[in-house]
Amino acid sequence: MEQQDLKQMDLDFVLHTYARNDVHFVKGSGARLYDSKGKEYIDFGSGIAVCSVGHGNARLAEAIYKQAKNLIHTSNLYLIEPQARLAKKIVELSGYDMRVFFANSGAEANEGALKIARKFGEENGELKRYQIITLDSSFHGRTISTLKATAQNKMHQYFGPFPDGFVYAKDLNDVPNKISNVTCAVLLELVQGEGGITPFDKAEVQKLAKILKEKNVLLMVDEVQTGIYRSGELFASQVYGITPDVITTAKGLAGGVPIGAVMTSLKDIFAPSDHGSTFGGNFLSTSAALEVLEILFEHKQSGELDKTITYFTQKLQDLQKHYAEIFTQEVGLGLMRGLRVRDLETLTKFLNATFEAGVLVLKSGKNTARFLPSLTITREEIDEGFLRIESCIAHL
Ligand SMILES: *Cc1c(COP(=O)(O)O)cnc(C)c1O
Repeated sequence: MEQQDLKQMDLDFVLHTYARNDVHFVKGSGARLYDSKGKEYIDFGSGIAVCSVGHGNARLAEAIYKQAKNLIHTSNLYLIEPQARLAKKIVELSGYDMRVFFANSGAEANEGALKIARKFGEENGELKRYQIITLDSSFHGRTISTLKATAQNKMHQYFGPFPDGFVYAKDLNDVPNKISNVTCAVLLELVQGEGGITPFDKAEVQKLAKILKEKNVLLMVDEVQTGIYRSGELFASQVYGITPDVITTAKGLAGGVPIGAVMTSLKDIFAPSDHGSTFGGNFLSTSAALEVLEILFEHKQSGELDKTITYFTQKLQDLQKHYAEIFTQEVGLGLMRGLRVRDLETLTKFLNATFEAGVLVLKSGKNTARFLPSLTITREEIDEGFLRIESCIAHL
């Protein structure tokens, strides 16, 4: 289909929720994407941290095909072997003594976390505890409750009334001030993804974890973006040396097949019918996720993942130093990285220029260029991407 016709069809029939870039990708391989005109791009965004094992991954495709030609779905009314295996694998790889519930997206995983917090608050303490503290510039999803959990007032302009009980803290140090006798949980990202790639300080996180434990308030970590080896470990919580009560994850887990997961050490918090999902954890998504975790585990064990993180980070730091008048700071954790750009205008120019030069870079917060390459990206792909960035940066 001609790109112009596709664009018109999209405008005519799809609700206008996205300010889409005018490009039509038709092929992908590793960290490379090709548009309908044959132009090649190095993908430093991997579909917002989703394509964790790259595009066109043969092992993932084979696992999906093998499962799809047999059973895709039977429903959670019956046993599902890959679902049970996946839960076991996530628990064992993380080292956290938890049980897992599978959903279909990050927001839905967070909905599960909010329900765990509310039920915990109802059952523990004299008062019915219901307040959940979240942090400024956070992002937790776009359902009505996860939108309200997202502490960005600009996102609450429409859609009210929202569910009660969300309390916003300015930063980690402000969290204890916001704890009341009806607080049941704190929900936070260890590295804010949409809020500008802001990793929290490890000592401060550990200090807060201790305070929450003492006050019997749940620590819930939203690892929808930081999870699944993006931080260098399966979960960023491991990098931070904390043991959360609840972890949610999604984006990279099944390499592009929709899936979400909420896991908790409150193993018996839910009884049958407290929570559920029609699609969640079906044969297709959990088989895909099992293969993704297998690939990424091997990648980690061989030392390749850590080498890639070091290499990619070095490239970004060199770029920052070289063009310090454009990039004020290099930030991030693992392969979730950002360059702070001096102002929004320059950031927009940078993103347009890199796109023209054949590199996909994302935006985060007000002034950050965000890099979320696939975890299996090769040195050659990294080199090519940075070469293209260097080639266009002089014209900024
Ligand atoms: C992307 C994201 C979400 C929402 O995930 P969806 O799959 O879009 O619902 C929630 N939290 C964080 C930290 C995210 O990065």
